[in-house]
Amino acid sequence: MSATIIDGKQIAARVRAGVAEQVEAFGRETGQTPGLATVLVGEDPASAVYVGGKQRACAEVGMVPYDRRLPANATFEEVAEELEGLNADRAVSGILLQLPVPAHLDGPALTGIISPDKDVDGLTPVNAGLLSLGRPGLRPCTPLGVMELLAETGVELAGAEAVVVGRSNLFGKPMAQLLLAHNATVTVCHSRTRDLREVCARAEVLIVAVGRARLVRREFVRPEAVVIDVGMNRLTPEEAGNKSGLVGDVDFAQVAEVASAITPVPGGVGPMTIALLLRNTLQAARYHARLHELLADVEEGLA
Ligand code: NAP
Repeated sequence: MSATIIDGKQIAARVRAGVAEQVEAFGRETGQTPGLATVLVGEDPASAVYVGGKQRACAEVGMVPYDRRLPANATFEEVAEELEGLNADRAVSGILLQLPVPAHLDGPALTGIISPDKDVDGLTPVNAGLLSLGRPGLRPCTPLGVMELLAETGVELAGAEAVVVGRSNLFGKPMAQLLLAHNATVTVCHSRTRDLREVCARAEVLIVAVGRARLVRREFVRPEAVVIDVGMNRLTPEEAGNKSGLVGDVDFAQVAEVASAITPVPGGVGPMTIALLLRNTLQAARYHARLHELLADVEEGLA
């Protein structure tokens, strides 16, 4: 194996430690503590594990977690009311609606109810639009995490051929926008791409988020490319043998022979998502603190 392994666990730990320090400093400056609310509808076990992880991580960096749960049969109006309550709550800096929501609910419509200034997942139309326009805003956590990993490799993005495989609103599209904002030449592939192998083989930076185990093999990868594997695929116990059972979209053993750097699964992109969620929550808290300061000044001026 020739590739450097990009250690997402270690990089995420560093991001979290940085956030913890800044939360403390923010508390000293403003007397406030950022708060992150998670909203979970239903009892899907995987979603409950994700929410639990986010709650714990939040407390670990000194923020206040708010854990809101609604039954699987909650109506659109009930979830909307919960989100609107959190929008209005000044103790809450960031709101995250855990996706997917049960099938009878419209997830994107519910996400759209979250105030853009509390949208720490960066998924509301306002934040997606701001990203697309290259204006400041809250960005989706996983693509932000990938940008941190790329920075760590030292790869020069300006002018580089970057290929993103997957065009979801959650990952592929915002990832492409972030790369474009860093002046990469970006190609986005999807299920209708005619020759995926040929397009991927052009990439100096190859980012794969499809959800198909080991889709990307050695012949898809340009020698010395930086390869980021976002995919998370659970193997059956028989397929997994005695291993963890979680594999990415990239055939790690093959691709590590040709790439210059590669993320493992698990331990690559996964840990970055929560770390960047915490950073986004702090960013939202800072924005609110500035806004309230400004409003107080205006009120004082009017008095
Ligand atoms: P998604 O919404 O299902 O999107 C998958 C994308 O892959 C779609 O754009 C689809 O194309 C494309 N695709 C499907 N088959 C393809 C093929 N054979 N060749 C090329 N493209 C193909 O999934 P997602 O939410 O973006 O997630 C993708 C993967 O990343 C999943 O494994 C997910 O678990 C993982 N993920 C991980 C994290 C993390 O924190 N580590 C965060 C987000 C996602 P069409 O648009 O044409 O259908």
